[in-house]
Amino acid sequence: MDMIDPFGRSISYLRVSVTDRCDFRCTYCMAEDMAFLPKKDLLSLEELDRLCTVFIEKGVKKLRLTGGEPLVRKNVMHLIRQLSRHLDSGALEELTLTTNGSQLSRFAAELADCGVKRINVSLDTLDPDKFHAITRWGHLAKVMEGIDAAQAAGLHIKINAVALKGFNDAEIPEILRWANGRGMDLTVIETMPMGEIDADRTDQYLPLSLLRANLERQFTLTDIPFKTGGPARYVNVAETGGKLGFITPMTHNFCESCNRVRLTCTGTLYMCLGQEDAADLRAPLRASEGNELLANAIDEAIGRKPKGHDFVIDRRTNRPSVSRHMSVTGG
Ligand code: SAM
Ligand code: SF4
Repeated sequence: MDMIDPFGRSISYLRVSVTDRCDFRCTYCMAEDMAFLPKKDLLSLEELDRLCTVFIEKGVKKLRLTGGEPLVRKNVMHLIRQLSRHLDSGALEELTLTTNGSQLSRFAAELADCGVKRINVSLDTLDPDKFHAITRWGHLAKVMEGIDAAQAAGLHIKINAVALKGFNDAEIPEILRWANGRGMDLTVIETMPMGEIDADRTDQYLPLSLLRANLERQFTLTDIPFKTGGPARYVNVAETGGKLGFITPMTHNFCESCNRVRLTCTGTLYMCLGQEDAADLRAPLRASEGNELLANAIDEAIGRKPKGHDFVIDRRTNRPSVSRHMSVTGG
């Protein structure tokens, strides 16, 4: 019954991009003028629930809603409330989301009430002007309000920051002190070549090995085996008493322990974030009321999960390794 891929990896983690739309336009993620998936192709919330439920029946223990911005999908709380029944039954161990925080002040209490315990909030700078520049449309104060509301509701927060050369590399120590000081772990991420953007990724790319070497001038970092089910490798930071994670899709391949697959809001399943191959689950979902066709299509897709990704960022290639934006597959 469980999903095991051709390399013996057990698939227990599903990420669902509930919308590819967003109220921000982060420069490393999207072009300013984005073409989104046609609304008519969207799965309804009921269909998303049905799909997630089949994955849970097939052994998924951890479900992360992402996007685009998951909290801008209309009635998304209805979906989250519905999915929380799998937490109550014990079939699902964790229901979580990745958000830009813009809508958190509105939804934090309800998320906690639905059994959500931890969320990831993406934040690349603590400077309001730089924040507006990198997100194009976002306001730092609104996100800070959201973080306050989430902590007040008892949600554990992990801050995600994409490390961008010349933009926030010098600020990471301050972000680390701030996050750990508020009881939040920080994870830094290498920028990945996904989708056409207006900026040049070669200018933005910062290998985290360099960042780590710089941080070690001010902080005592000790590797620890801590894992949250994702690809981050963690260190303890002696000076802050908190944790710092590194997600290094470019400089260190973590595919050998990959336990996840990704579903888009139109029912396309990507077996790897960094490959083009995908399986359509919308057709089998809609072809019958029973779930047998769907379960077969999922098995067939897991049977094609590739060994890994091979992202490249350099001046010679200067093309995205995969054509779709991160907001389609979900981070
Ligand atoms: N809108 C939500 C957010 O920003 O948290 C969820 C979706 S967003 C695509 C998920 C994560 O992917 C964010 O932490 C974002 O910074 C990161 N991200 C987006 N584009 C990226 C890229 N090209 N390389 C690396 N990380 C990226
Ligand atoms: Fe939106 Fe998240 Fe992409 Fe920023 S990183 S544009 S918040 S989806």
